[in-house]
Amino acid sequence: MRIGAHVDSTDPLGEAAARGAETVQFFLTDPQAWKDPEPRADADAVLAADVDVYIHAPYRINVATLNNRIRIPSRKLLLTHAQGAAALGAKGLIVHGGHVGSGEDVAVGFDNWRKTFEYGAKAGGFPTPILIENTAGGDNACARRFDALARLWEAIGDYEVGFCLDTCHAFAAGEDLLDAVDRIKAITGRIDLIHANGSKDPFDSGRDRHDNLGAGTIDPELIVAVVRAAGAPVVVETPGGVEGQGADIEFLRDRVGR
Ligand SMILES: [Zn+2]
Repeated sequence: MRIGAHVDSTDPLGEAAARGAETVQFFLTDPQAWKDPEPRADADAVLAADVDVYIHAPYRINVATLNNRIRIPSRKLLLTHAQGAAALGAKGLIVHGGHVGSGEDVAVGFDNWRKTFEYGAKAGGFPTPILIENTAGGDNACARRFDALARLWEAIGDYEVGFCLDTCHAFAAGEDLLDAVDRIKAITGRIDLIHANGSKDPFDSGRDRHDNLGAGTIDPELIVAVVRAAGAPVVVETPGGVEGQGADIEFLRDRVGR
């Protein structure tokens, strides 16, 4: 099982080596900005490295929203980041499920997701697999609770779409981790990546604050059980830099095998 971490984008290969990581995830731009990625000087090295690369899309992206001034640029940004990710041989571009505004119909959000993949298909297809990630909070989210996820997949399941399960987000969303993998696979048929994170907040808090695996409110053995059941590559998005993430990677390797 390939295990690694979300790291700073300046020197992802150096960060991966420092942590003994086999997978590495990073942003191509400031995650709070509306920016297309620039070509990277380390592209050849990243392509050649024996590290599986995942790119996280900017947080600004919300392809579900009814607001066209957000939705249209979100689609475009998803495509340009998928192109930037492809230039690095990335195995996936992770993007949050998004949401509609309060009082708005989430069914429109699911259809906006469908239109996003229609847009991608017209552009020749997203050149990196899009992995939709479950989110922690909000009552109008497309991928917080798994009943919403089922409706999302009804809308987009005909396209080639992957899924990224974040343990902190599922726990904070109020979804039981014990059988989460089975319930998700029944909906999506696949889990492409696990974000193995502890949570600083209680079950069903709706809050998105990651913690290390031995710390926080989630029983770490439950996170191990999710990783085992999913059988997918793992990225920890936990605090503590080289030391904290390195310990989380070791913790998982000790339990799920190397
Ligand atoms: Zn995550």
